[in-house]
Amino acid sequence: MDNQQLLRYSRQILLPEVGADGQQALLNASALLIGLGGLGSPCAMYLAASGIGHLVIADFDQVQLSNLQRQVIHHTSDIGKDKVTSAKAKMLAINPNIKITTLTQDLNANNIDKWVAICDVVLDGSDNFATRFAINQSCVMQRTPLVSAAVIRFEGQLSVFKGYKQNQPCYQCLYPRTDSNDENCVDNGIFAPVAGVLGTMQALQALKVILNLGEQLTGKLMLFDALDFSLQSIRLHKDTHCPICANVG
Ligand SMILES: [Zn+2]
Repeated sequence: MDNQQLLRYSRQILLPEVGADGQQALLNASALLIGLGGLGSPCAMYLAASGIGHLVIADFDQVQLSNLQRQVIHHTSDIGKDKVTSAKAKMLAINPNIKITTLTQDLNANNIDKWVAICDVVLDGSDNFATRFAINQSCVMQRTPLVSAAVIRFEGQLSVFKGYKQNQPCYQCLYPRTDSNDENCVDNGIFAPVAGVLGTMQALQALKVILNLGEQLTGKLMLFDALDFSLQSIRLHKDTHCPICANVG
């Protein structure tokens, strides 16, 4: 790190749990962030500001007026632009020293593996089960930690999946029915800051996974209810019949 970097990251380096070695580990790390919506917006900004060296960001959508209430990385002047283009500009404005790769294709089982393969951690902020299952399968097969979050209405959930480990569940252990109907914000609504809370927590957990710090939230599902203002975590178990992870580990 040069003097500018030491100064930029000084408040993080000051933490004994991070230090210069930890900051260097973040700078050496690559993360794949899928979805630049309500979750991905704050998440992308914190990952960029924290100094993750290479961020691969994926979203095939364009910015719409109805996104702006919660997708805070996108501004009014970005309406009509690709979300990855809009997000990349803000991330580089925050931190010009990181590398950003943008993907506009719909990530699926046929094209996701090569991106998961080059990343140390994957963050899922997508909004449909088909994409979530494809991301999960690739992460299990390539033994990459998956930081998964979801929000709807006044509620959010968060977990870190390492389904490639013995006794550790994967995302599909939690949702064994792959034909489940999507519940999304378009139909159900979302209270804006709930996405901010969960997206920020997603970035937090990804940094902790890279640094191997503290409570990793593996095998646990954290549930946030903004109306009750309650936070609880429930234990998750590996499904011994899971088609994705039962025989991996
Ligand atoms: Zn599983």
